Amino acid sequence: MINLLDLDKEQMKALFGDRPYRGGQIFRWVFGRAAGGLGEMTDIPKRLREDVAKICTISYPEVADSQESSDGTQKIAYRLSDGRIIESVLIPEKDHWSICVSSQVGCAMGCRFCFTATMGFIRNLEVSEIVSQVLHPLRTYPERSFRNIVFMGMGEPLLNYDNVIKAVRILTDVDGPQFSKRRITVSTCGIVPRLKLLSQDTEAALAVSLNAADNAVRQRIMPITRKYPLTDLMEALRAYQLPNRRRITIEYVLIRGVNDSPKDVREFIRILHGLKAKVNLIPFNPWPGCEFQAPDQRAVLAFEEHLKNSPYTVMLRKEKGTDILAACGQLAGGVIHDGQGIDRFFAESAKLSGKAEEHSSHTDPHILGVHRR
Ligand code: SAH
Repeated sequence: MINLLDLDKEQMKALFGDRPYRGGQIFRWVFGRAAGGLGEMTDIPKRLREDVAKICTISYPEVADSQESSDGTQKIAYRLSDGRIIESVLIPEKDHWSICVSSQVGCAMGCRFCFTATMGFIRNLEVSEIVSQVLHPLRTYPERSFRNIVFMGMGEPLLNYDNVIKAVRILTDVDGPQFSKRRITVSTCGIVPRLKLLSQDTEAALAVSLNAADNAVRQRIMPITRKYPLTDLMEALRAYQLPNRRRITIEYVLIRGVNDSPKDVREFIRILHGLKAKVNLIPFNPWPGCEFQAPDQRAVLAFEEHLKNSPYTVMLRKEKGTDILAACGQLAGGVIHDGQGIDRFFAESAKLSGKAEEHSSHTDPHILGVHRR
C-alpha cells in the first residue's frame, strides 16, 4: 500500500499517468486540506476513488499521548506503524503557533546534554511521519494559526536529509499547507558536508547548535565535533549561501560551569565574526539522570548582556513546557533508558571511523556507522 502522505506533487501526478491533474487534485486534498480519507474527496469521481483505494491509503500515526504544560505548550507523542514513539511539541506564541517536529526516532549524535541522545539512534522517519506531525495539528486544531515549523525535535535532520528536504518541499507547496520557506527552520548540530547541499536544495532557514566556542569544550559535550572540528564548521557557515537579508540562527545552550562564563561569551562573539548570524540562547533544561545543571540566572543575564553589546541580535529563549519535559532536549518518547545510548554511539562510530564520508545517497543512517537496533 502506498501512503499518500509520502508523495510529493510530482509523484502524485505520476501515479495517475495520463491524467496528472487528478494527482494534483488529490495532492490538494491530502496536503492542502489535510483530508483524513479518500471519502472526503468529493470532486473526484467515486469510481476513481475506489481504484485509488485499492493501492493507496492516507495513514497517520496514532496519537499515543498528549500533554499540556501550564504555559500552554502541548507535547504530542505519536505511535508509528512499527510501534516506535516520537514526540512533537506545539508551542503557543503571541499571535500564532509553532510546531517543533522530530526527524528521527532517537538520535546518533550523543550530545551529552540532550535527553533524546540517551535513546541512541533507532531509525529515520519517513516523509509521511514527518509531515503528519504538521498535518495532524492542522486537522485537529483548525482554530489555531500554525505559522512556524522547527526541526528541533528528536533526531538530526541532516542525517535524514532526503526525507527532510522532501517534507519541506511538501509543506511549502502552494497546493499543500503553504508554509513560508522562511518560517521553516532546519536545526543541525553541524554535519559539515551536508551544509553546502542544504543551501542548494532548500530555502528553509538554518539553525546551528553551536553550544561552545572552544573546540575542546564542544568536543566534550558534542561528540560530533571529533568528526567536524569547530573551525571546519565555522568555515562552512561563513560559506553558506543565504538569501538576501537572512541570517543563520546560532543556538547556544547555556550549561552551568561548562560554557557560561564571561570568557566563554567573549570567545563566542569572536568566533562569530564575519557571520550573518543571530543568537538564540537556551538555558539548559535538566532531565532525569543528567550530569549537567541549569545555569545561574545571573550568568544567563550577563551572557545575554554581553551579546547585546555585540553586532549580533540575541534572543533568550523562554523555557516552555519544562513541566511536561517538552522543552529543548527533553524529548524521548517516554522510553526506558538503558543508559547505553552514548556508549553505543562511541563504540559504533569507532568501528566505522575512517570510512568514506561521501555516500551516493544522502539519506543514510550509517553516515556515522550507527546501526539499527
Ligand atoms: N539535532 C538538531 C535538532 C535537535 S536539538 C540540533 O542539534 O540542532 C534542538 C536544540 O535543543 C539544539 O539547539 C540543542 O542544542 C538544544 N538542546 C538539547 N538538549 C537540551 C537541553 N537539555 N536543554 C536545552 N537545550 C537543549
